[in-house]
Amino acid sequence: MKKNVLLDSHLKTLKLPTFLREYEKTGRQCAQDGKHYEEFLLCLAEMEVAEREKKGAARRILQAGFPAEKDLADFDFSAVPKLNKRRMLELARCAYIEKRESIVLAGPAGVGKTHLAIALGREACRRGKKVKFFTACGLATAYAEAREERHVQRLDAHARTRHLIVVDELGYVPLGQGAAENLFNFFSLCYERVSLIVTTNLPFSEWPQIFGDERLAGALIDRLTHHVHVVEVQGDSYRLKASLKAGKAKHAANAAPEQQGGDAQEESANQ
Ligand code: ADP
Ligand code: MG
Repeated sequence: MKKNVLLDSHLKTLKLPTFLREYEKTGRQCAQDGKHYEEFLLCLAEMEVAEREKKGAARRILQAGFPAEKDLADFDFSAVPKLNKRRMLELARCAYIEKRESIVLAGPAGVGKTHLAIALGREACRRGKKVKFFTACGLATAYAEAREERHVQRLDAHARTRHLIVVDELGYVPLGQGAAENLFNFFSLCYERVSLIVTTNLPFSEWPQIFGDERLAGALIDRLTHHVHVVEVQGDSYRLKASLKAGKAKHAANAAPEQQGGDAQEESANQ
């Protein structure tokens, strides 16, 4: 008993909470199975490492500030047959981040660009990368506010220490001159230093419209497309399809509630 108190204290000092929590149970199990001391140690070490990685990933995902929990596992690739699933899974392995490359996800509204961007970002967090999610407007506003409070350096420093930054929804709202310049400076800062995932509903040819300035847009596209994977996400709006399906189910439920209400409501609830 006395020995355990000492062991517990040492494990706390060494910051090995999983060892501390599990050693008794694992020790008993290993003794029962006739396992050697080294196997007992290996088992505890593996549990400690797994727990640490899990907590680290959860912390990084929280710090990234994603607006929703989306993963590749719940992305229905059959809804966008032109999208190469193998390529997306390959990108999720994060080699592009090691090479400081970027990804542009381009396509119309509702096809899953934000979903894919979040999914890739969360996967990067799981693989030990520091990630930050912004909407293009949010990023421009953050810089505008930082400029007022003379905190731009702090924002830049934070960006510089990320491995990956997601800039969602570039192009939905045209940017004013100040916002366009802020974004341009931001993209310059990230160039060859931090990987970016940019989602946009506009082809590059229409980017001058977002930035309201042909030269600024040209210079920006030049930097961004230097080491970039352009992924076209083309298809019908998943959001629209889902709500049409839900609407149909509701309609059917209203038309014949006693025969098919249960099923239809279930379908609608599953959307
Ligand atoms: P976009 O950013 O292209 O406008 P979103 O990623 O916001 O589209 O998608 C809209 C909604 O539809 C989200 O809830 C998203 O999770 C879902 N969605 C879109 N495409 C798919 C898909 N192929 N599989 C599963 N969910 C999808
Ligand atoms: Mg989106």
